[in-house]
Amino acid sequence: MKTVSGKGVYGAVAIGRISVFKRQEVQVKRVRIERPELELTRLEAAKEAAISQLSEIYEKALKEVGEANAQIFEIHMMMIEDDDYNDSIANIITSQSVNAEYAVAVTSDNFAEMFASMDDAYMQARAADVRDISNRIIRNLCNRDTANAVSYDKMIVCADDLAPSETVSLDKDKVVAFVTAHGSSNSHTAILARNMNIPAIIGAGEEFLAQIHDGDVAAVDGYTGEMFVCPDEETLARMEKKQKEDLEKKALLQNLKGKENVTLDGKSIKIYANIGGVSNIGAVMMNDAGGIGLFRSEFLYLESSDYPDEETQFLAYKKVLESMAGKKVIIRTLDIGADKQVDYFKLGQEENPALGFRAIRICLTRPEIFKVQLRALYRASVYGSLGIMFPMITSVEELREILEICETVKEELRAEGVEYSESIELGIMIETPAAAIISDLLAPMVDFFSVGTNDLTQYTLAVDRQNPMLERFCDTHHEAILRLIELAARNAHAHGKWIGICGELAADTSLTERFLRMGIDELSVSPGFVLKVRDTVRKLDLSK
Ligand code: PEP
Ligand code: MG
Repeated sequence: MKTVSGKGVYGAVAIGRISVFKRQEVQVKRVRIERPELELTRLEAAKEAAISQLSEIYEKALKEVGEANAQIFEIHMMMIEDDDYNDSIANIITSQSVNAEYAVAVTSDNFAEMFASMDDAYMQARAADVRDISNRIIRNLCNRDTANAVSYDKMIVCADDLAPSETVSLDKDKVVAFVTAHGSSNSHTAILARNMNIPAIIGAGEEFLAQIHDGDVAAVDGYTGEMFVCPDEETLARMEKKQKEDLEKKALLQNLKGKENVTLDGKSIKIYANIGGVSNIGAVMMNDAGGIGLFRSEFLYLESSDYPDEETQFLAYKKVLESMAGKKVIIRTLDIGADKQVDYFKLGQEENPALGFRAIRICLTRPEIFKVQLRALYRASVYGSLGIMFPMITSVEELREILEICETVKEELRAEGVEYSESIELGIMIETPAAAIISDLLAPMVDFFSVGTNDLTQYTLAVDRQNPMLERFCDTHHEAILRLIELAARNAHAHGKWIGICGELAADTSLTERFLRMGIDELSVSPGFVLKVRDTVRKLDLSK
């Protein structure tokens, strides 16, 4: 038995098989060959395999994300059959007597550059597609497995680190735990694990990856931050017992379903849930959340290989609103950038991505993308009680520009005779110190605030939320952060507006009393924390 130790970021216990996440990076070399005709045969086989892989992915996507999103894989299949693309590869192989991998890589570079230099945005986006299909053919030529992780029914995904785009590509029905060498508590992988109610360990150190193998049985304890690989009988029995007790304890909290979030002295607070997509709705219902306080809509973009169109987004928002049957649903406009990278946005490299081109800054620079999302949101608004929330606000001017764009979108919809609700609430995230400090100026312009403590902590303490080396400097209870929240609460209330917290700190029950005393109106937490926070609220007496 080996024991791997790191930091647990969600308290739960899981037992399953290890699946090591591998990144597919193939170095292509130029090799001279004697018989080009054999290379052409290898190429044909690799292309055939690529088409059959893509058709499988298409079928899976069709079921999971709908036809509009799945279409891209059909386009990929057509691109593989394209005559110009194939002529170029064959020409390079025969005229230069080189290996097929090299010919595909050169063709991929040439075509991608050609697409990227076109004026039309749609054609520019095809550059990423041509690279994607070419990499797939190259991996097939090298006999590399195209899957990133071997699949087991109960899999413990182990990786050096996982980017959000990689996490969303995993088969979430089968993942029972994450263990990463790097990562930090507020990274989106940790957040995703909490949303999925599964244990996760971060910061386990690089060495652990050398000590584990695909298929090893392991037990993960998200409470202690330990993973036992190939556990001995006694450890396995102890972990099975702990898992059973944990489930029983969580089942006990289920008794709080239907109960109010009210303190012993009668103060009440709303407890909502955070979600990353339609698939989290079941957990929201099961945990009896009063609404959705944060729908991270960027996951729709992360799960897609091209900009999700208005109809796709409309259907996703409509589904969430309908499922919540009139309960409040706050959808945050896309917060892409920093650690949430999507190839087709072509954001490029930045020196300081967290301080860079992200979230509302992208939306205001590329309003054509922003407007598609706003149109989908306004159209969906008639199906429930919608709040729209804007991330990364730092100034009054930005907010004014956003509100003007919202007005334009409404005017356009009216002109087209498209219905939308007049009672949508518009709010902003308080996640930069600037927004908290000028919250007296921002409050009159919106209906609500929601504090994003993950970024507010990062920007207030100058602690990169992605950097595990800074964990000990990341004091989430720092007085500076709590005072900024309190300031925003005072300013919101002075203007008759409500304020919530949707960052991870909202679930920190050692702060629930302080938040209630500040007058925070709503806490939005991962679905699995709703009943725990309710339990804490119901045991508090603020009169004491
Ligand atoms: C936050 O910053 O606290 C937040 C809720 O947003 P995200 O974690 O998605 O950046
Ligand atoms: Mg944030």
